[in-house]
Order: sequence, then C-alpha cells, then structure tokens
Amino acid sequence: MPEVREHELVIVGGGAAGLTAGMYAMRYGLELVLLAIGGPGGQTATATIIENFPGFPDGITGAELIMRLSQQAQNFGVTFESAEVQRIEPADSRWRLDCGSTQIVANAVILAVGASPRRLNIPGERDLFGKGVSYCATCDGFFYRGKTVAVIGGGNTAVEEALYLSDIAEKVYVVHRRDELRAELILAERALKVANLEFVWDTVPAQVLGDDSGVTGIALHNKKTNEDSEIAVDGVFVAIGYAPNTGFLEGLVELKDGFVVTDQRMRTSQPGIFAAGDVRDTPLRQVTTAVGDAAIAADSAYRYVSERRSER
Ligand code: NAP
Repeated sequence: MPEVREHELVIVGGGAAGLTAGMYAMRYGLELVLLAIGGPGGQTATATIIENFPGFPDGITGAELIMRLSQQAQNFGVTFESAEVQRIEPADSRWRLDCGSTQIVANAVILAVGASPRRLNIPGERDLFGKGVSYCATCDGFFYRGKTVAVIGGGNTAVEEALYLSDIAEKVYVVHRRDELRAELILAERALKVANLEFVWDTVPAQVLGDDSGVTGIALHNKKTNEDSEIAVDGVFVAIGYAPNTGFLEGLVELKDGFVVTDQRMRTSQPGIFAAGDVRDTPLRQVTTAVGDAAIAADSAYRYVSERRSER
C-alpha cells in the first residue's frame, strides 16, 4: 500500500516560481511541502547570466539565483521532497497527488512545473544527445574550449547561449530560420559585433551528423535559396524555445496550447488548484514574471485554504 500523507498546500515544481510560492506561503502560515524532481533548479538554473532580474546591476548566474532563492525558501521553513507527480485527481473536496510510492492529499495545489527545451526532431538529434547535442550551454559549454559549435534558434536563449559559447569555443555558428532575430535588441546588437560568432540566416538544420564518438557536423537547408549544405561542428546547442510540462495535467485543468489557463489571481479551472510561472498561459515568460505569479498564487492559495479552515 502506498504511503498517504496530508498537507494544506502542495507546491509542484522547484524553479523560481515554486520556490517563491513556498516562501510566500510559509510567511502566510500555511503547512506545505514542495515537490521537485531532483531538487530545486528549473530552467533558471541553466541560464548563463540573468541581466534583467531587478537588484543585480551586474547580472547574476541562473545557478546562483536559484541557490539564493532556495536558501531564502529554506530560511522560511519550506520543506523540499524529491518526487514526480504522475496524476492529480479529486479526493472529496481536496486533491490527491499520485507520486508512485507516495500519495499526497492536499487542500490546495500550486502548479509551478515550468517547461522543458523543445526538440528539433531531426535525424541524429536523439542518437547524439549527450555526445555533442545539448540543450544547455552553461551545463555543457565547458567541453567545447577551442572547438566549433552551432547554436540553433534566434530567440533570447539562443543568442545568450551563443554569446556565452563565443568566450569558450573558437567559432560559433548561429543557425536561424529567418533573417531577423527574435531576441531583444540589446542582445542582438551585442551578438552581431562578436568576431567569432557567425549567423547563418534563413536556414534550418536537416540532420545532426556524427558517429559513436560524437557530433561531426550539421546538415543545413536554406529556405530562401533551397540550397543544402553541411558545416563541420563539434557540438550542436538547440535553443528553439520551451514546451510546457503539462502532460500529466491533461483532462484536469483547462490548457491552451498546452499551457495552463488561469485568471489574474492564478486560479486554474479547478477550485484549489493554482498555477505560476512558465507553465502558465502568459504573454511574457521571465524570472521576474514567474516570481510575481508565484506571490499571487500563494496569496490565492492562502485565501482558499483559510476559507475552508473557518468552515470546519
Ligand atoms: P523563443 O523566444 O520562443 O525563441 C525560439 C527561437 O527558436 C525563435 O527564434 C524561433 O524562430 C526558433 N525556432 C522555433 N522552432 C524552431 C524549429 N523547429 N526550427 C528552427 N528554429 C526554431 O524561445 P527562447 O529564446 O528559449 O525564450 C523563451 C522565453 O524565455 C521567451 O519569452 C524569452 O523572452 C524568455 N527568455 C528571456 C531571457 C532574457 O530576458 N534575458 C533569456 C532567455 C529566455 P522564429 O523567431 O522564426 O519564431
């Protein structure tokens, strides 16, 4: 029989949103547990440098920011538990979270499960993952000192990763499917000035080339000229956006393009279930917006739980 535990609030996700929600909820006096697969982290932890989080005029690495947020949450008494929620279902007027060997019954739930890097879904990508294909320059960039790499994508992540890699690798190609970057102007202007960074415009990757010893190159297709080409690279960093981690929520809460729909109080379509951060259907996905969402979600969860406390 699985162990069954009860909590007033369960926060699912240990990124910036989950940690902030935990800190706020503890300050409201809620009894809670924060579930995170493999501990605190999330996408923020993989960011090379975050320059637009208020209060850090010189920027801060994602890992350092998460470490500080995690410490701050612990200072307020947040308890972390490593668990993967597989399903959430109604249990009388509460929610039961199925975590395999453990079942948790909660009065309220905050979903802060974020999103994961999107895949290109081209030949070679899956087979060469970990052998030259990566989704995180801060994690794997170190291996490419003096080598040649390609970054795929034209958004903020791609350009930030390319800038980071340009300090390590000898040469960095940025392969983008259009002739204009999606990234913010300040980043784009900085990247366009870097000598060892070359943009390959209007081009999509067709295949990651390599063998058992690793990536050797990438096959490309120019969408404007219809020409096919190959470039020799030692590593391919895919940075084409993120997909929400909401597979386990299908049929439970309303989703839009896979993201959780909320109102301005972070309430989902189910009473007692709230959402915060990148998993939410929101016009801007940043650490700043995630922590703002989280504060509101914790406040809403507090109101929801205390209304039920007074009914008892
Ligand atoms: P993003 O903004 O969605 O950009 C994804 C990029 O990948 C786009 O340039 C897109 O091309 C390209 N792309 C998408 N699918 C592709 C495919 N199948 N093949 C080739 N290229 C493809 O994703 P992101 O850069 O990861 O950023 C995600 C969110 O985090 C954004 O809201 C971003 O602003 C935020 N963020 C902010 C910062 C910061 O503020 N410093 C840093 C990192 C991320 P198109 O341009 O043609 O669509």
